[in-house]
Amino acid sequence: MRVCKGFAAMVILAFSQTLFLRLTPHVFAAPAQSPKGLRAGAAKLDVTPRLGLSVPGNMSDHKGAHVHDPLYVRALVLDDGRTSVAVVTCDCVALYDETIAAAKQIIEKQTGLISDRVAVAATHSHSAGPTVSIFQSDADRDYQRWVSIRIADAVRCAANNRRPAQIGWAVGSEPRAVFNRRYFMNPGTMPENPWGKTDDKVKMNPGVGNPNVVKPAGPIDPALPVVAVRDSDGDPIAVLANYTLHYVGGVGPSHISADYFGMWADVIEREWAAPATVNKSPMVAMLTNGCSANINNVDVLGSSSKTRPLSPYYQMDKVARMVADETLRVLRTVQYRDAVPLGARMSRIPLRVRKPAASEVAEARAILEQAKGRELRGLREVYARETILMAEYPDIMEVPVQALRIGDLGIAALPVEAFVELGLEIKQQSPFPTTFVMELCNGYFGYVPTVEGHEQGGYETWRARSSYLEINAAPALVGAALDLLKGVKSSEK
Ligand SMILES: [Zn+2]
Repeated sequence: MRVCKGFAAMVILAFSQTLFLRLTPHVFAAPAQSPKGLRAGAAKLDVTPRLGLSVPGNMSDHKGAHVHDPLYVRALVLDDGRTSVAVVTCDCVALYDETIAAAKQIIEKQTGLISDRVAVAATHSHSAGPTVSIFQSDADRDYQRWVSIRIADAVRCAANNRRPAQIGWAVGSEPRAVFNRRYFMNPGTMPENPWGKTDDKVKMNPGVGNPNVVKPAGPIDPALPVVAVRDSDGDPIAVLANYTLHYVGGVGPSHISADYFGMWADVIEREWAAPATVNKSPMVAMLTNGCSANINNVDVLGSSSKTRPLSPYYQMDKVARMVADETLRVLRTVQYRDAVPLGARMSRIPLRVRKPAASEVAEARAILEQAKGRELRGLREVYARETILMAEYPDIMEVPVQALRIGDLGIAALPVEAFVELGLEIKQQSPFPTTFVMELCNGYFGYVPTVEGHEQGGYETWRARSSYLEINAAPALVGAALDLLKGVKSSEK
C-alpha cells in the first residue's frame, strides 16, 4: 500500500475523490477524505469443493456427495491511513501454513498488505473441503491451491470495496450452547486408548446420560465478542465475531456444509444488513473460532433426550440462531468511532514434536502388517498409521503466533486447536481491555492441551497428525501471544 502513496496523493490532487475511485478502483491509497479516518471493505467468495473429494474431520474418510450449503472465504480489510490489516475466515476444518503462505504471497503482490498483517483463520467446519490430511482423509493439492487463490482474491475484493468507515465492538455472552467435552469417569470405566491402556483420567464425549460420568474436566468460555464496521451512511460493512465452540455437526450423509458458522452468517447478513443498494458491496458477517479444542455442543449431563435422534441440521440451526440473536443484541449496543490505530505483529516460536520412539514405530508396523490390504479399523490401527507418519515429522516446528490491534481491542491468533484454558488466560492477562483469541489461524499444528490436560490424557492428547506438539506448547503459545499483544499495544499510537 505504501508504494502507491505518492502516486495516489498526486491523483487525489488532480481529481475529486469520486472520480478517483471510479477511475482507479484497484489503487490502494491513503484515505482521501480524512487523513486519519478509517476505511474498511469486506468481501466473500465461494470455496465449495466439487463433489467426490474427501471431507476431513472424522476418523474414517468419506467423500462429499451433496452440497447442503456453500462454503465461503470471507475477508475484512481495515485501513487507518498508515497501516492496513486483514482478517480472513475460511469455511474448512483447518488450513496448512503452506496454503496460507501461498495466499499471503499473492496478497502482498496484489494489495501491498504484508503477511504479518493478514490473519487467515479456519472456521473448523467438519463438513468442508480437503484442505488438510486428518486420519483417513487426505488433502487434495488442487483444492488447496484453489483455496489459496480464493483467499487472496477475497482480500483483494475486500480492499477494492474499502470506503470511509466507523468501527466499534462490544462483548456478549451465550453460555447455553457450550459444554466442556472432557469428563472424569467412575473408576474402572475408562475404555482402552489406541495403545490398549485404560489409564487416561478423562474421556472425551462419553455420551449423553452416561451413568459413569463424574464431572467435566475443565471450564467453558461463553464470551461473544462482536466487532461492527459500518460506512459513513451507517450501512453495515462487516460483522466480525468470535465464539468458543468446536462446531455443531449433525449434517446429512456426506454433506458439504459450513456448519453453524455459515448459518450464523446467513442470519446476520440477512437481519443486520442495510437494504441492498446497487452501488455498495454487500455486508459480510464472519464468525471466528475461539480456543475450543475441548468445547462442544453436547449436553452430556443435561436432560436432553438421547432416545430420539435429531434430524440433520436441527441442532446446528438452533445453535446458529441462539448465537446470532446474542450477536444482534450486542450489535445494537456498539459505540462507533471514526479513527482507531491499527497494528499487527507476528512471530514464529520453535516447538518440539512428540516423536514416536523406534520401538513404537516397530510396534505400529506390526499392527499395520496384519491389516494389510483392507481398510484400517478401530483406534489401534488408525493410530498405528499415525505413529508411522509422525516418525517422518521434523523434530522442531516453527509455529506462527500473531497479535492484531484495532484501537483498544486486542486479537491474538494461534495456529492450533487450543484448549479453552489458553484463551481464558490470554484474555485475562492481555494488556487490552477487550481481547479475543482466534484459533486455527495462520496454520494447523494440531491440538494443544494444557500441561494438566496432557497429564489427564484423552483423545486430544493422543499422538497423531492431529496432536503432536510438545507438552509445554500451551504455556509457550500463551506467553508468545501475550508478548505480541504487549508489543502491538506499545507500538505507535
Ligand atoms: Zn475438530
